[in-house]
Amino acid sequence: MVIAKAWVLKNHFDGFPKTSDFDLKKIELPNLKDGGEQKLLLESVFLSVDPYMRLCCGRMVKEGDIMIGTQVARIVESKNPAFAVGTFVVGDRGWRTHFVSDGKDLQLLPSSWPESLPRSLALGTVGMPGLTAYFGLLEVCKMKPGETVLVNAAAGAVGSVVGQLAKIGGCKVVGCAGSDDKVAYLKKIGFDEAFNYKTVKSLDEALRKASPDGYDCFFDNVGGEFASVAINQMKKYGRIAVCGAISQYNDSVPQKGPYMQIPMIFEELRMEGFIVTRWNNRREEGLQALLKWVVEGKVKYHEQVTEGFENMPAAFIGMLKGENLGKAIVKV
Ligand code: NDP
Repeated sequence: MVIAKAWVLKNHFDGFPKTSDFDLKKIELPNLKDGGEQKLLLESVFLSVDPYMRLCCGRMVKEGDIMIGTQVARIVESKNPAFAVGTFVVGDRGWRTHFVSDGKDLQLLPSSWPESLPRSLALGTVGMPGLTAYFGLLEVCKMKPGETVLVNAAAGAVGSVVGQLAKIGGCKVVGCAGSDDKVAYLKKIGFDEAFNYKTVKSLDEALRKASPDGYDCFFDNVGGEFASVAINQMKKYGRIAVCGAISQYNDSVPQKGPYMQIPMIFEELRMEGFIVTRWNNRREEGLQALLKWVVEGKVKYHEQVTEGFENMPAAFIGMLKGENLGKAIVKV
């Protein structure tokens, strides 16, 4: 019999999440059976902490439920011939160390995954955040060579891939992030311009200096005040991909304008929200493209790895505070 550890949501978040909002529970797992849903026993090896968990908890998680989230897990016992012991998969089973499955809800890593590549990348650059960058840029921004792309939260899991894919696509890239170390990283991985939005005197001036002609595409991860400044620097027929609004996720009271309609009218902008699962039918295409670029060294990655399952709440809160460079991961 296996006892799994799991983090449950003790209290719904009120403002910024606190470690006291979570509880660590032990759960006894059923033994495997030849039939039914208990064919595989898995152990989580890497778990992801993501901004959507803050956003979605209020809608999708009740107090006492296990926190939502994905993991790279290893098969430790198998009664399903399609999954050999030792196989690594991506699961969507929340913050838990072990779980059972019939295999239907598991995704294999791409078969061409090189041994030398960390499997945790299946939660980041070659996983959901990478796909978000890929489809957001290609399908929502519809970037074209020679255009200028702006991305915020640029040193994070999604943003760092956005900038690099835009460079591969022949664009000029401007990125903003919340520390000088992050800005140095952005320059190292090929951003044309980067600045620390927390220390510039005027965001408006910093954006204008980085691209005096304005922006064709704006990949917005942040929303709020940043977006309302940036929208005034869009070029005619510019496209804004509304990917996230992390500056608003912890607000108990919704922020007020300035509002977007006037610049949208004058510059005839297109602004579109999206969720990456819209392209689930093209997941394989996206993962193969991202994996190829990573293997070729055209897309660089960085991970902020927190050791220990007991530190999941701290890693989650740290990511929301901006302590991560690249993808925030927990190693069990
Ligand atoms: P990141 O790895 O970028 O981590 C979050 C980062 O957000 C922090 O490191 C911090 O960086 C920044 N941040 C936090 N608070 C603020 C704030 N008040 N103002 C500006 N920046 C802030 O996370 P992800 O790459 O996983 O996600 C980025 C965005 O994309 C999020 O908004 C997320 O919800 C969204 N997303 C949307 C998806 C979709 O399908 N639409 C899928 C995946 C993600 P810094 O130090 O620069 O402030």
